[in-house]
Amino acid sequence: MIKINPFESALAQLSKALQFLKLSPAQIERLKNPEKIISVNFPVKMDDGKVKIFHGFRVQHNSALGPYKGGIRFHHQVDMNEVKALAFWMAIKCAVADLPLGGGKGGVEVDPKKLSDHELERLSRGYIQAIWRDIGQDLDVPAPDVNTTPQIMKWMADEFIKLKTQNSLRLHSGQAKLKTKEKEISKLMGTFTGKPLDYGGSEGRTEATGIGGFFVLQALLKKISLKPRNGKELTAAVQGFGNVGFYMAKFLHEAGFRVVALSDSKGAIVVNDMKKDSFNPDLVLKCKKEKGTISGCYCVGSVCDLKNGRPTTNEKLLELPVDILVPSALENQITGDNADRIQAKVIVEMANGPTTPEADRILHKKGVTLVPDVLANSGGVTVSCFEWMQNLAGSHWSGSEVRSKLQKKIESAFSAVWETSREEKTDLRTAAFIVAIKRIIGDK
Ligand code: NAD
Repeated sequence: MIKINPFESALAQLSKALQFLKLSPAQIERLKNPEKIISVNFPVKMDDGKVKIFHGFRVQHNSALGPYKGGIRFHHQVDMNEVKALAFWMAIKCAVADLPLGGGKGGVEVDPKKLSDHELERLSRGYIQAIWRDIGQDLDVPAPDVNTTPQIMKWMADEFIKLKTQNSLRLHSGQAKLKTKEKEISKLMGTFTGKPLDYGGSEGRTEATGIGGFFVLQALLKKISLKPRNGKELTAAVQGFGNVGFYMAKFLHEAGFRVVALSDSKGAIVVNDMKKDSFNPDLVLKCKKEKGTISGCYCVGSVCDLKNGRPTTNEKLLELPVDILVPSALENQITGDNADRIQAKVIVEMANGPTTPEADRILHKKGVTLVPDVLANSGGVTVSCFEWMQNLAGSHWSGSEVRSKLQKKIESAFSAVWETSREEKTDLRTAAFIVAIKRIIGDK
């Protein structure tokens, strides 16, 4: 299979949107190229006493609207093109969501599942020691992504604050030193989002991406008429059962949609009776925690029983006869090879970059409504932005305040994209890019 370069996919999406806009060559170059690329090799002491060198990146794509913003991914296949694409999509996403933030992304080439907790902590701190001069609450604000958690954000923020304060405290002495420290620390907390609640985190951040995706789907269903295949409830298949996939599945299930297939990196499960069964995501998660994988967690109603489902593959999950498909894992899942076999009428891209441009064309021709990643999963960065704002102001919003602000933001982003797609007679991805680019170049 040919490896698809996600940055080339991102640029192809950009080129399509540029056909609707009149931009100067310099404006186009700025949109295409990252403002700064940081590539680091840093040492980590392993539990056996040996030192291993790890390779990491931080790409700062565009800061026209504010500090760079974007997650840090720990994955054994992270590479520069992937991080460049993800940083680019973050710039578009923050603009679609109308946030005062630009786009960035980071990554470390590592399989975190092979590390002990102590090694993971030293790796997280080591990465920050390598890039700390290039991040900050007014400069670049990282967050969690694939395989990075609130705990990892806490280690990173702690390391960053240590490095920053040690450095600036050298300039002060005595009482002045203490005062500087207090003030500085409260501001410095805003350098990372997705932190634990008791460490400057925001209410509602953990489920933000999932609930945001659900709000987007609800807004879409008010605009299109999607008839359930079985004449009863709408069915959904969710690929990826991490933070994003779990919460999306949970909110769908709670709202009466039937979640008929779920998967993780090791395999997929599908209910036995697609006409009436629905997985219970909470129970599936509990079972996955016990077994370490989703395989065998056929939890329907209140019981997990082998009779409730059967195993399948991630490839087959994508092609099931469902109403809604929710890719929530990694890039390049729907490609020119399988797009023709997709049976869902609606795709909600909760992962970043799950669909290639070639697949986009095929799906569009088939009449599939695809909600692009830069809109569908923008709930995560929106609540990250709320966390950053709370840290800078030294305030704390309640869970209901966060959720209602998020819903407003998401609905207004959806409506801008939907209206543009109708005006320009184009698909939702291209419309989202048009909305974003106009904001980035200051032509709202
Ligand atoms: P995560 O690490 O919590 O979960 C990833 C899940 O995908 C895991 O269940 C893993 O087993 C599964 N997976 C990995 N490879 C797979 C494969 N080939 N097939 C099927 N499943 C596979 O990560 P996450 O935070 O849930 O992120 C998932 C996606 O959502 C990523 O594309 C990420 O960039 C995007 N995203 C995340 C957030 C966020 O707030 N966490 C926000 C916006 C976008």
